[in-house]
Amino acid sequence: MLIKTFPMGLIGTNAYLLIDEESKEAVVIDIGGDFQVIKDEIEKENAKLKYILNTHGHFDHILGEKEAQEQTGVDVFVHENDRYLVENLPKQLEKFGFVSNAFPPQNIKTFTENNTFWIGKNEIKVIYTPGHTPGSVCFLTGKNLFSGDTLFYTSVGRTDFEGGSFAQLSDSITKKLFTLDDDITVYPGHDSKTTIGYEKKYNCYFGSKNLD
Ligand SMILES: [Zn+2]
Ligand SMILES: [Zn+2]
Repeated sequence: MLIKTFPMGLIGTNAYLLIDEESKEAVVIDIGGDFQVIKDEIEKENAKLKYILNTHGHFDHILGEKEAQEQTGVDVFVHENDRYLVENLPKQLEKFGFVSNAFPPQNIKTFTENNTFWIGKNEIKVIYTPGHTPGSVCFLTGKNLFSGDTLFYTSVGRTDFEGGSFAQLSDSITKKLFTLDDDITVYPGHDSKTTIGYEKKYNCYFGSKNLD
């Protein structure tokens, strides 16, 4: 599996392109800016985009998705509890002080934890991790976890936005993510990648080395 990172948009949100090298099927997770750079890469690799998946519905993760949808005809997916955030993209932008002439993608498809996605023979599992938003999820495929704004390198996502909950975030991280294998690589929605093992030790909120 090929994994490429594209920091983009207003506040440097990571978009991830995953390509199964055998079947050439591809998925993009969170498109927060100009889709063209990802499209060029998909064409360069002779791949075919199958889904646009979202870790959650915040504006900085979805801004490029209407354009991506129009250019590829591919469906946009988000957890059912964050659908309202995607639909309210212009309102979100106004709230954060940006001038809004952006439109959300159309015909948004929703999923729950029971859904799985496939590119070639690679299963992409949904792990429901609410807390940053009511519909935040992580995507797990092989030893790779795409954690959105739930888990960051030595940090975690904010819970002071509308619909956020620190208690939920705490459960999501300690009961769901920290029970995964230590050697899983974590690809977060912002900043650098990390591993589950490293965060279990050194995370500033939930790491064992920081809790005494
Ligand atoms: Zn967010
Ligand atoms: Zn974000």
